[in-house]
Amino acid sequence: MPAAVNIAVRGRVQGVGFRPFVFQLAHSYQLCGTVQNNMDGVKIYLEGQLEMIQAFLEDLRKKAPRLSKIDEIMVEDSPILHAVDFSIIESERSGTSKLVIPIDSAVCDDCLKEMNDPNDFRYQYPFINCTQCGPRYTIIEELPYDRPYTTMKSFPMCEDCRREYEDPANRRHHAQPIACPKCGPKVRLVNQDAKEIISENPIKDTIALLKEGKIIAIKGIGGYHLCCDARNKQAVLLLRNRKNRPVRPLAVMAASVSIAREFAEISDFEEELLESPEAPIVILRKQKSYDLADGVAPNMKTIGVMLPYSPLHHLLFSNAGLSCLVMTSANPSGMPILYKDEEAFQYLAGISDYYLVHNREILHPVDDSVIQVNNGKLDFLRRSRGYVPDPFSAAEDVTGVIAFGSQQKNTFTIGRNQQIFIGPHIGDLENMETIAHFKQELDHLLKWIDTPKMAAVIDAHPDYENQKIVKEYDFDEVIEIQHHHAHMAACMAEHRLSGKALGIILDGTGYGMDGNVWGFEIFYGDALDFERLAHLHYTPLPGGEKCIREPWRNAAAMLIDLHGIEGLQLAKAIFPDKVKEIDILKLMIDRGMNTVFAGTCGRLFDAVSALSGVTTFSSYEGEAAIQLAELADEDFIYPAYSFHLLESSILTIDFSPMLKQIALDVLAKKSKGQISGSFHETVVQAIMSAIERLGETKLDLVRTVVLSGGSFHNRYLRKRLSALLQESGFQVYVPEKVPCNDGGISYGQLAAAAAKRRASKCV
Ligand SMILES: [Zn+2]
Ligand SMILES: [Zn+2]
Repeated sequence: MPAAVNIAVRGRVQGVGFRPFVFQLAHSYQLCGTVQNNMDGVKIYLEGQLEMIQAFLEDLRKKAPRLSKIDEIMVEDSPILHAVDFSIIESERSGTSKLVIPIDSAVCDDCLKEMNDPNDFRYQYPFINCTQCGPRYTIIEELPYDRPYTTMKSFPMCEDCRREYEDPANRRHHAQPIACPKCGPKVRLVNQDAKEIISENPIKDTIALLKEGKIIAIKGIGGYHLCCDARNKQAVLLLRNRKNRPVRPLAVMAASVSIAREFAEISDFEEELLESPEAPIVILRKQKSYDLADGVAPNMKTIGVMLPYSPLHHLLFSNAGLSCLVMTSANPSGMPILYKDEEAFQYLAGISDYYLVHNREILHPVDDSVIQVNNGKLDFLRRSRGYVPDPFSAAEDVTGVIAFGSQQKNTFTIGRNQQIFIGPHIGDLENMETIAHFKQELDHLLKWIDTPKMAAVIDAHPDYENQKIVKEYDFDEVIEIQHHHAHMAACMAEHRLSGKALGIILDGTGYGMDGNVWGFEIFYGDALDFERLAHLHYTPLPGGEKCIREPWRNAAAMLIDLHGIEGLQLAKAIFPDKVKEIDILKLMIDRGMNTVFAGTCGRLFDAVSALSGVTTFSSYEGEAAIQLAELADEDFIYPAYSFHLLESSILTIDFSPMLKQIALDVLAKKSKGQISGSFHETVVQAIMSAIERLGETKLDLVRTVVLSGGSFHNRYLRKRLSALLQESGFQVYVPEKVPCNDGGISYGQLAAAAAKRRASKCV
């Protein structure tokens, strides 16, 4: 039966060879019509036999080019236009291709095959690439994406490369970073004094040095890594000492999936992620046979693993190389990743013994992305290399809305037409370097995306950097969005939820509308607005920030505040070497000196972690909570402690009975795992009880719940709360494409601000 359809494909479908693919596919099914790029993706008109069209649609998703990523395929019937052939036609708007900013992608199998072929002229060449792989975002100076506007402009193509580049039938046709040993970038091995070590084969020499236990800074795609043998205890310890990073887990790069399987459990889903062109770090559960150096991920059940993603990485593992390397971002504490050679030599002096560098300049640094599979779904801890700046499609026109994100784990987000671009992971906006890095990357992406600056969106916290930064830009309007509302709006926008929902937001810290620190919230609302239905009872944080770095202070303060003299005695019994400081804390609390009030999930975890002797001092952000969570098994259901729900103008969750019982359990030497598990279950039960209580009066119509905020990386909370909510008849949504932590704030800010702008226009 003859038929015709219009197809709209959204996602990463431009600049990845999608139109030639559609062209070939249409031909193979004897279909006529057209394909073209438009502002939001690819538009296809097809006519022919209905079964052929159906077969085409099936293959469209299954056989799409490696680098494409289809978010949505929309099909509608069309009148038959009686086309005579199938053709690729001009973009709907001229210059549409200018809008595509391609991502960096792991080297493809075809290139690897050539690289390992002794007869190929790119044999063992560390910069081999093609149209389906290689660096992109990190080397682009200006758009459109074309060699003269990339850092490859300083490498004139040789004849062989040019022939491939210009041949439409070649898989390197218009591969902008095309290169070979004759004409392309080269590696060099450099010593601590930044002097080149003359070498026939710098990569082979690097392998030898790594085998000796040396620490080497290696320039990659998005910046420098610090690297050592992951099975060499001394080397790992040396790296930790030199980097002044006592326990924070280090990521490793394994030669292959089968090597990674020797020390980590890998599901099919996780394997797919590891081998994807985005090549993120995937957080995996350690195997029983785990045999990497203890210092790689001490006290952790999990380990962050990635596979080699640049040809250079692959060469480090060939040539009788090592099977597993520590690969951690090279950045001075709290600063952006190093990506310029001179800066690397300067900052890493005394840390790395050698540098493996190359002369292909990096313009836009990006950190490795970090992902885990949590309760069967994707859970981004960091969305950066390989994913940035892939656009998300928006439900409405968001042109000119630019969200500045949060203070911690900052990202920014830019809207243009019906597309949303989340920028790379910037870091914590807490020093000059990171703030400069933020502005540089924001300015670049703004220029590329070429959208007017209409509305800036910032966090409502009066002391956050973006309050200052936004003043340096010229916006018609500045919109403030409450931190946890942004978390909620992010999850709702990602799942295109309209209408009202319940938001359970568990988080570290965020500025609350009443001036207190929020972070354990039950909201009711949508992108436009929210009502705060319930929260964690506030307790004091004497000394503010100091309580975050030293969770024992927070624990003692909670006990003192919630249980008076009895709490003071318990605190002293649990932290006997802090008796004097505890008296001072009590004084500070009594007099309200330098004390803010907080009700956050992050601080609650910190306190319990300190009380149970897991982490009393945090050497990195989130350490106390992470270490405590490691002790709870999400495949088990623990008995809960008791808690109270307090009803006044707003429902408050009060964990004072639990905290006292935990203190007593600790003094009775109950196991840390049991305490942690029961604590987790209590948090879950308290939230379920609060929702049940709210349901008696308010929630009869809402059946949609979103879970967001950084605490939802926690496997137990996510799994157990999702299950119980579903049992109670709720539809549960979690962030899957955007981090649930503060890396997702800018995306939520944009969604909330867009809703506010729409509402203000309607009035
Ligand atoms: Zn390739
Ligand atoms: Zn060449």
